[in-house]
Amino acid sequence: MREGRPTSGEAEAVAAAPLPGTVRVLMYHSISPAPAERGFRRYRVSPALLDEHLSALAGAGLRAVSLTDLLEQARLGRDVSRLVALTFDDAFADFTDHALPLLGHHRAQATLYVPTAHVGRDAGWLGARHGRLPLMDWPELRAASASGVEIGSHGHWHRELDVLPAREVLAEVQLSRALLEDELGTAPQSLAYPFGYATPVVRGVVHQAGFASACAVGYTTTPVPGLDPFAVQRLLVAPGTTPEQLADLLTGRQGVEATLRRWTRPAWRTARRVRHRLTGSSHVRAA
Ligand SMILES: [Zn+2]
Repeated sequence: MREGRPTSGEAEAVAAAPLPGTVRVLMYHSISPAPAERGFRRYRVSPALLDEHLSALAGAGLRAVSLTDLLEQARLGRDVSRLVALTFDDAFADFTDHALPLLGHHRAQATLYVPTAHVGRDAGWLGARHGRLPLMDWPELRAASASGVEIGSHGHWHRELDVLPAREVLAEVQLSRALLEDELGTAPQSLAYPFGYATPVVRGVVHQAGFASACAVGYTTTPVPGLDPFAVQRLLVAPGTTPEQLADLLTGRQGVEATLRRWTRPAWRTARRVRHRLTGSSHVRAA
């Protein structure tokens, strides 16, 4: 969270200045012009809006890179103030149709996180509530990889890793990693925790399985000093996020945390916590 945020009057006079020493990662899910079911709306951004977001990033002097590239630059002590990592969770089939052409057009790089058990099928972990949401198949993932998209793991079954025994977490992430390596010819470097949930044990197991980084959902950015590559926070971009808001947020003209909490009300997180406390289990469906 940034302090000393200027008032709106002052903000007009402040030139866009990048946040120094901060790793900024955006998180998208589905990119489609089709209307989404009510519970899924916050996870779908239209291609027209993604196009505007990518233009706004370039207009603000920011370069879109993969998660691994961004962390590597930070690890080397380079200036990351003009970089932003783009990530897409779940490998929905609309990535091929809508996101990939826009990334190419804007020369933007990105990381795509794949729940390997569902490749070529649909988002079974969401249940029937949101209708059938098809996922990319292996040839589509190979094509995305060949075009420069970093492919990472999103677990195998998209299970909540924080409530599993460590040996099951290890089995999930090892299997996903092995499948991605077999199918794509390269071992994935990065993982996104399904639903964003992780504990110190989960983070340690993911490290042990050979990954170099992992992402959560923190509604904030991550300072470079002391950066834990297995606790990288991401900003969930919502369908109501205007290009101006996005550019202002990433260039330090808005308070990060307050803005993101306004955009994205994580009601399902609260519901999960309450349910978990009441029943000892959790089955809230989310992306
Ligand atoms: Zn997911």
